[in-house]
Amino acid sequence: MKYYACSSIENLELAFLGHIDIGNCVTFCCEDVKEKPMIGLREPKETVEEILRLYQDIKLKSIQLAEEGVSDSVLTGCIKCPMFQLKQKEIQSISEVKKRMIYDYIKMINISVYPAPCQAKCIYCNVRKFKRLMQYNENFEEFYNRMFEIIRLLQEEYHLIKPSTNWFIASGEITIHPLKRKLYDLTMDKNVVYCSNSFKYDEQLGDILATNRNAKLSFSIDSGTPETWSLVKGANNWETMRENLNRYHKKALTCQQIRLKYIMLTGINDNPQEYAAVINLLQDLGLRSLEIARNQYETDIQRSVKDTATFIQCLKKANIEYQLRGYSPEEVKQINEIL
Ligand code: SF4
Ligand code: SF4
Repeated sequence: MKYYACSSIENLELAFLGHIDIGNCVTFCCEDVKEKPMIGLREPKETVEEILRLYQDIKLKSIQLAEEGVSDSVLTGCIKCPMFQLKQKEIQSISEVKKRMIYDYIKMINISVYPAPCQAKCIYCNVRKFKRLMQYNENFEEFYNRMFEIIRLLQEEYHLIKPSTNWFIASGEITIHPLKRKLYDLTMDKNVVYCSNSFKYDEQLGDILATNRNAKLSFSIDSGTPETWSLVKGANNWETMRENLNRYHKKALTCQQIRLKYIMLTGINDNPQEYAAVINLLQDLGLRSLEIARNQYETDIQRSVKDTATFIQCLKKANIEYQLRGYSPEEVKQINEIL
């Protein structure tokens, strides 16, 4: 049987994204696609039922699209998305598809909702352009609690969250989030990635890294020198960041728990001195890998592709692995052609 899907749909990923109190914030992916499948945060039970109904609907309608060429409004966003690919599996009937859904479980939960505070001023940050998104107050707790209850229902009553489910926590800055304890309690023993800007050392986060080897800290360093750090982050605290990073690194059980990311910023951090400095920093910490991310607002794509290839060459010479994030298949192909 043929069908259309992306990995987010196939894995039944669940993402809580954007404004938690207005509009739709529950979805299956974090792709920037207009009209992608999304629903609002209503009463927990009602929301869970709606998530499952929408998920089932997308799967069944994607079979109809592939088998009969009939499209449905539920797929409006996905059809425009490059991730929505034609696939084929040995499935005999619609009833078998429905049956299989009962045994599916959620492979990834992404919590990236706002309002949530952050003290950094990253030049590429979309969230800080809208002040309200960073202005948390206790009125929002009710909405966060609704999200926590939805997750509890999915786990305890629907059994759709398993120990192998991956978690990604990126609501503002975790170390200063007023609900950080609840976020930690929910995830501290899971396969979890916490995004932090490392402006502040958080004892509890350090303790989690020290006790759970499946807990990771993801940190976008984007620089190798104090000057570039200040320019990118809008703060003069390179030394504090370095000290905090060292402390987390010492606490972690393995080096793989510290994940550094470098967002390529044309004209800012795309020069050999910066590459050499960040490679030194990685080597000092004994880290063997770096994520290179595409700036989603990049306008000079050709230059960025070349710069990325140059940076990769430097990393290869230093025997450091890399993973590309956010580059299109075509951009990856161009980068590989240069290498
Ligand atoms: S918009 Fe794209 S990535 Fe998101 S659910 Fe649809 S096909 Fe998947
Ligand atoms: S650390 Fe994250 S939320 Fe904070 S300003 Fe930077 S990108 Fe935005």
